Amino acid sequence: MNLTGWLALAFFLVGVVGQYYFRLGRHVEGKRRYFLPWLIVTGAIFMLLPATDLPWWAMLLWGPLVGWITWSWYRYTKFCSACGAMCNTYDSIVCPRCGMSIINGNA
Ligand SMILES: [Zn+2]
Repeated sequence: MNLTGWLALAFFLVGVVGQYYFRLGRHVEGKRRYFLPWLIVTGAIFMLLPATDLPWWAMLLWGPLVGWITWSWYRYTKFCSACGAMCNTYDSIVCPRCGMSIINGNA
C-alpha cells in the first residue's frame, strides 16, 4: 500500500472512532477536551491525503481550505451540558436530544 492508501486508512479509522466517541458517548468533559485535538489530527491527515498527487501550488489552496473547514467545524460544534449530545450551533440554539439551550454556558 502506498502513502495515500495508508493516509486514507488512517483517516477512515480516526474518523470512525471519533464519530463513535463524539456522537454516541456521554462523557461531556472528555468530549470537550478531546474534540479539538481529534479535529486537528483528522484535518491534518485529510490535508495530506492528496499531497502526493497534487502539484505544490494546489496544496497552497487545499491546505487553507481544509484548515478553514476544520476551524468552522470546531467553531460551530458544541456539546450539551445536560446530556452530552454533539450539537451544530448553525442549525439550532437548543440541544436536539434534550432541548436544553446550547448557547449559554456550554463550551
Ligand atoms: Zn442535550
